[in-house]
Amino acid sequence: MQVQNDHVVSIDYTLKNDAGEVMDTSEQNGPLAYLHGHQNIIPGLEKALDDKSVGDSFTVSIEPADAYGERDERMIQTVPRSMFQGVDEIEPGMRFQAQTEGGVTVVTIKEVNGDEITLDGNHELAGETLHFDVEVKDVRPASEEEIEHGHVHGPGGHEH
Ligand code: ZN
Repeated sequence: MQVQNDHVVSIDYTLKNDAGEVMDTSEQNGPLAYLHGHQNIIPGLEKALDDKSVGDSFTVSIEPADAYGERDERMIQTVPRSMFQGVDEIEPGMRFQAQTEGGVTVVTIKEVNGDEITLDGNHELAGETLHFDVEVKDVRPASEEEIEHGHVHGPGGHEH
């Protein structure tokens, strides 16, 4: 069966950055199941999967614009330590959820300088060209409920 809109696609994948480091892989949790044509995954990967068939393996490189976007230096801010009430230790690399006008976002601590904390609100993969090794494991028509919800139910998907 071929990958097409309103189908549930299961893929094994390994994601590497430009340096060849593995950033993510389905190896531990098993194949990722997503609903094709519903922007469940980054646009570049969804496009690369169009018309592929079960058993197909391929490699694709995706520019930031079709992945997690370019880095935006305006999303780097310095805030006072008092914003982190109840957090004893703040170290570079730690991640926090922050409430912003656009909803909940994840910020990474970039630098700690006394009472000044520098935060980076960019996605950790923003600005990165992504290299995927992908194997299509399964394709099935989505149920009406899945199409209505815009995501996959059952193994590899939402449990609710
Ligand atoms: Zn649902």
